[in-house]
Amino acid sequence: YDGLRLTALTKRYPNGFTAVRGIDLDVPRGSFFALLGPSGCGKTTTLRMVAGLESPTSGSIELAGNDITGAKPYRRPVNTVFQNYALFPHLDIFENVAFGMRRRKVADVDAKVGEMLDLVELGPQARKKPAQLSGGQQQRVALARALVNQPEVLLLDEPLGALDLKLRRSMQIELKRIQTEVGLTFVHVTHDQEEAMTMADTVAVMNAGVIEQMGSPAELYENP
Ligand code: ADP
Ligand code: ADP
Repeated sequence: YDGLRLTALTKRYPNGFTAVRGIDLDVPRGSFFALLGPSGCGKTTTLRMVAGLESPTSGSIELAGNDITGAKPYRRPVNTVFQNYALFPHLDIFENVAFGMRRRKVADVDAKVGEMLDLVELGPQARKKPAQLSGGQQQRVALARALVNQPEVLLLDEPLGALDLKLRRSMQIELKRIQTEVGLTFVHVTHDQEEAMTMADTVAVMNAGVIEQMGSPAELYENP
C-alpha cells in the first residue's frame, strides 16, 4: 500500500484510559483526508502516534509500505501543524520558514523558502515579523514551515481552530488549493463537520476512540 496505513492502532495512557481503540485506517497517498469527531474522541492522540510523539500500546503504522511504528519522530517523513503554531517572534517570516533547514545545512535554502512563501502567497511579507501579520497569515507561515521540508504526509491538528469564522472559511479554500498544488497527503483533524466535508476527499468519523464511518463527503451525506 503506497499511502499511510494504521492497523489495529491502540493507545492506552498510563492512567489506564484507552483513547484510541484498535483503529484501522488507510489514507490514500496524495489525498486530503479528514479525521472528524467531537473533542476528546482521540483525534490528537492518533495524530501524535503517526508523528511519533506518542508510542502506540499496540498496532502498527506503515507509510508507503515501510513500518514506522517505532521510528523516531525526525526519522519519519511526516510533519505537523498544530493549532498553537509557535513562530519565532524575533525572526522575520523568511527566517521562520528557513530556520530548520539552516540548522540542518540544507542546500538552496533561499530558493526553497522563496518558492514556499509564493505558494502560501506571502512573498511580499517575507521581511515582516510575525506580530505584523494577521492570524490567517501567521497560520500560512506555519504551513510553509511544515511544507518546506517536503514531508510525505502533513498532519494538521485543528489548524484553523484559533481563527474567526470568516477567516476560517477563506483558509479552508486556501489550504485545499495548497494541498492540490503540492499533491502531498494531508491528514486534517477537526471537530467541524462542515470543514471536513468541504475540504476532504475522504472523511473518517471518530467517536470514543473508534472509527465509526468512513467515505467521501458525498457518501457520508447519503448515509448520515
Ligand atoms: P481529541 O483530539 O479528539 O480532542 P485527544 O486525543 O486529545 O482527543 O484525547 C482523547 C482522550 O484521551 C481524552 O479523553 C483525553 O482527556 C484523553 N487523554 C489525552 N491525553 C492523555 C494523557 N496524556 N493521559 C490520559 N488521558 C489523556
Ligand atoms: P486537544 O487540543 O487535543 O484538546 P488537550 O488540550 O486536551 O488537547 O491536551 C493538551 C495536553 O494535555 C496533551 O499533551 C494531552 O496529552 C494532555 N492531556 C489531555 N487530557 C489529559 C488527561 N486526561 N490526563 C492527562 N493528560 C491529558
